[in-house]
Amino acid sequence: MRKEEKNSRVLPLFTRYPRLGERVQHLSFGEFPTPVERIDGLCTALGVRNLYIKRDDLSAELYGGNKIRKLEFILAQARKRGVREVMTYGAAGSNHALATAVWAHELGMRCISMLTPQNNARYVRENLLLSHQFGARLRFFRGKWSLRFGSLFQCARSFFQYGSLPQCVPRGGSSPLGTLGFVNAAFELKEQIDAGEMPEPELIYVTLGSMGTAVGLILGLKAAGLRTRVVPVRVVPDFIANKKKAVKLFRRTNSLLASLDPSFPILPLQSHELGIRHEFFGNGYAHFTEEGMEAMKLVERIAGIRLEGTYTAKTFAALISDAKSNCIGDRIVVFWNSCDAHDHSDRLGEADYRMLHRAFHRYFENDVQVLDS
Ligand SMILES: *Cc1c(COP(=O)(O)O)cnc(C)c1O
Repeated sequence: MRKEEKNSRVLPLFTRYPRLGERVQHLSFGEFPTPVERIDGLCTALGVRNLYIKRDDLSAELYGGNKIRKLEFILAQARKRGVREVMTYGAAGSNHALATAVWAHELGMRCISMLTPQNNARYVRENLLLSHQFGARLRFFRGKWSLRFGSLFQCARSFFQYGSLPQCVPRGGSSPLGTLGFVNAAFELKEQIDAGEMPEPELIYVTLGSMGTAVGLILGLKAAGLRTRVVPVRVVPDFIANKKKAVKLFRRTNSLLASLDPSFPILPLQSHELGIRHEFFGNGYAHFTEEGMEAMKLVERIAGIRLEGTYTAKTFAALISDAKSNCIGDRIVVFWNSCDAHDHSDRLGEADYRMLHRAFHRYFENDVQVLDS
């Protein structure tokens, strides 16, 4: 697609609510709609009738996955404001921090990534090196207080250098504004259903991290008039992802939409509607699990689709477990694939980790977790 055509894409959410289109900034980075595919091989392997995969792993050649949908809104607003720097947060191997580095770089903004410790894995190395290649400034903080102090320091520094503060992008991009990306994604799915690409699903299995993905979908599905239920599979500690916070994010996102376009309804959400699945978390964030690794291998072998151990493998493990206990059967199910599918080894080439700050060398010098080797 040519650049101009890409930038003129009308979002399904804006088609339904044109007023939002006039009032909300948006930039097109990715290739949407992402395909929905029925995977017959997986249906047979799992003994289910109707399994589809929503291929957000193909959302962009440069760097795909789910974060781009949020950043199309967040960075559009930052650009409108004339921001030169964005500052974001995450674990050392954060996909969100990398996605922010990539798309900020495309817009000529600098990304400051405020990173905190996590369990080691190969993708952590790759994400750090890629973020560095895309010009991000990577900072490492061991604890809550050093992170706070570091944020203040960065703000002061930007202020003296540019006369303005960096725009903060929260963890995972899950501000109400970022969450609009997944409200729109639900309308995108609705268009695909209306076009006959798939029947209306009963369940969507999706990873629950900073929650913008799952909460945006829940809100968007309701607004689009679909009866589909979301099955959020938690992969972060429950003080980050829980019912109370999910309801709050839902309400804040809903208010944002209604304030921008009064014809957008205020939708009800009862906390019992959020059937968060906790059993696939394992020993912690980015601690891979046996059942996750098995799920990952199965999907790769049968469908040729790559998952990863921190998010999507655990989510698919939940789907497999439900299939085995006959909770799925004939129901129409979507697995929302939120990770990036591309191999970046060409771009990385011979990149040397010693270019990174010393604090990050541990991820290259220490072993990765056993399930990842
Ligand atoms: C960030 C991320 C998620 C979680 O999405 P949230 O909106 O943070 O809940 C899921 N899968 C992958 C691959 C991610 O990087």
